[in-house]
Amino acid sequence: MTPELEIVVGVLALQGAFSEHLQLLKQACTSLPKNISFTFIEVRDAKALAACDALIIPGGESTTMSLVAERSKLLEPLREFVKVYRKPTWGTCAGMILLAEEANRTKKGGQELIGGLDVRVRRNHFGSQTESFSTPLTLPFLGDGEPFYGFFIRAPVVEYVLPPTTPASALANNNDKTVSAPSMTPLDEIAASFTSPDEVKVLGRLPQSKLTTTDEDKRLGEGRIVAVEQGNCFGTSFHPELGRDVRIHKWWLEKVVEKVELKRRMEHERVIR
Ligand code: GLN
Repeated sequence: MTPELEIVVGVLALQGAFSEHLQLLKQACTSLPKNISFTFIEVRDAKALAACDALIIPGGESTTMSLVAERSKLLEPLREFVKVYRKPTWGTCAGMILLAEEANRTKKGGQELIGGLDVRVRRNHFGSQTESFSTPLTLPFLGDGEPFYGFFIRAPVVEYVLPPTTPASALANNNDKTVSAPSMTPLDEIAASFTSPDEVKVLGRLPQSKLTTTDEDKRLGEGRIVAVEQGNCFGTSFHPELGRDVRIHKWWLEKVVEKVELKRRMEHERVIR
């Protein structure tokens, strides 16, 4: 059977758990309709990125990843991929930090962000490597009521969903080493349509038992957010790629298919108009 839809999904392979994502993607796509042909590739340069319809930014170390991306001249193409072309992008753990418009507790000298999600993330929220844990999460978007075991390794949380009309910098607290991503304009009306609905959707929170209750957390109130979606971007604090459960990969691939189909249809209509 000739495939009706060919989709290239990249995994940023500069550092971190990229091969684990590739394995789960390959497993997840076996339960998707057979008329879609997926190619999964490792992305290390701008040429490979340009071939992708969608991208995963894995967990690892966001500071290192942003530094290597900058050195490989991939940082600006990544920002364009997410914010100008608005292609579907999923960041896990360090990947979610890179997709945040703001991150605090950054290393001395700060770090570069890609942005795309109007949130502020708090790096290393749970402490060091030794404070890593796994916990069952309730993720209603998966639709089957079954808990999903999330692995949290030096994980961030979403501290704030940034109010849409307030410039991110106005909320930044300089004592907290907060950095922001640069803003960019979508390429055209097709790209812009992928930001709609534009608001940040909270897709997952930590169970109450895992809630840390420092004064800071009490003040923030929302320190439990661990999965968010906004337009073309999706972020998870935890690492679905480190387990065997393919449900989130499958759910995300289905979203990618929907978005790519819609985009190609809109482009086709534009050509014949
Ligand atoms: N703490 C790491 C960072 O700030 C993220 C850890 C991870 O991806 N497991 O980049």
